Amino acid sequence: MDRSVSIDAALAVLLADEQATVVDLVLCARDGVVEAHARAGSVGFTRDGSVTFQKGRNPLAAQDAGAFSPLADEMQHVRPTNETNHYPYAYDNAAQLFDDPRAPDLAVIHTPAHNWEERGGHRGEHGSLDLIQSRAPLIVAGKGVRTLGRIEREARMINVAPTLATLAGVQPLNGTLLRAQDGEPLHDILDPAEQPDHVVGFLWDGANANVLHAMADAGELPNLARLMSMGTTFGRGCIASFPSVTLANHTTALTGVHPGRHGVLHNFYFDRATGREIITNSPDTWHFARDEISPNVETLFEAVARSGGGFTAAVDEPVDRGAGYATFDLVRAARGSGATMSSALPDPTQVPGATQTFVDLKREYGWATSADHLAVMQATQVWKGQNGNPTPRFMWINLILPDAANHAGGPYSDIGHAGLRDTDARMGEILDAMDWGGGNTAFLLVADHGMEESDPECKGDFDDALTAAGIPFRDEGYGFIYLDA
Ligand SMILES: [Zn+2]
Repeated sequence: MDRSVSIDAALAVLLADEQATVVDLVLCARDGVVEAHARAGSVGFTRDGSVTFQKGRNPLAAQDAGAFSPLADEMQHVRPTNETNHYPYAYDNAAQLFDDPRAPDLAVIHTPAHNWEERGGHRGEHGSLDLIQSRAPLIVAGKGVRTLGRIEREARMINVAPTLATLAGVQPLNGTLLRAQDGEPLHDILDPAEQPDHVVGFLWDGANANVLHAMADAGELPNLARLMSMGTTFGRGCIASFPSVTLANHTTALTGVHPGRHGVLHNFYFDRATGREIITNSPDTWHFARDEISPNVETLFEAVARSGGGFTAAVDEPVDRGAGYATFDLVRAARGSGATMSSALPDPTQVPGATQTFVDLKREYGWATSADHLAVMQATQVWKGQNGNPTPRFMWINLILPDAANHAGGPYSDIGHAGLRDTDARMGEILDAMDWGGGNTAFLLVADHGMEESDPECKGDFDDALTAAGIPFRDEGYGFIYLDA
């Protein structure tokens, strides 16, 4: 069938009244125009943000990154509908996806309320183009960074790598710091007169920015609060690229390039040309994920090496191409023996400082506790040169417990908060071991995406409706629809 006709047939099903509670909007690209469709209307646009058509209500009209903030305001507007939600940078964030020929025919965006735990979803969710799922925290601090406190501004995930590159003294290449970068450095929070000797990045996977700020204010995250006092916090957070999922945005944070251009398009996606399903974000495939990163982009580890900047380290980070030390090198080296990330982990009930109530309650909490405990030990050893290497010029540490804890209970839950407190203590352990950088180190803390609370009462499955309508398709990651595939 003609592709455009197939798209229209699928849209008719997805935008029907029966799917109203679970389908927020649907993205597609036809004839060089990107389209967003919701039940009340549609908009067509191009990469530069110019609108080419509008029918009914524009479903991406509201794009205020400052909405639903601070936390009290966010909690008064939980699970907004398309009419009341915000989609910051929506045109650019949606359009970039379709730069990759492996993009789906239709990207279905779930409503914030949709709970699909039967299909791998969670109470706390992310992946959408909307504000709460896209809004990660961003704190930049230490040597080379201005102490502006909390500023009423947002940054974007594409700004993170260029900013780190500036701090790490990366030399420009054809006019930009990183090859093919989409974002610019956040120059106005940096102090060019001060060049740090070391740069350390922390990624707290799946942390909600407003919750982090509120808990820091309440004295519940003392190490985070101390980091905030040493620099600049983006009060409106850091807006992830679409889809707001883990490895797509880890790769964006470490390359400055959108998912549609860096190759790690989603956790799951499909390459029609080769008939291959690509799975990046799973404990069994993390160590292969970096093979999907495009050779046309540059990781920070590669850029520091190119600039003669010195030793780099990637602790627990799958996006580690070019790193001098990489946790996942250990897993790759043991490939033949069938080793995965899981096989190297300690017993979480023996991890000191872990909130054992939740280790016992949720397997994912325990697993992430073990992984992060190992990350603390590795980061400390690497920093102190115990592996025989110099102190890193650039070190990146991925802590995954916030994601597991927030998935389990949502961002406002006791388990979610416990995950943040445990993570703050672990980051503090690392920072204490490095004497908080000794006065010559810059720090950056970011998450890869936000986290939004779904409604366990809101059920439904748009794939069932497509199947019932006789539409041939495959769905990758529950939302990337490939028609006639
Ligand atoms: Zn994540």
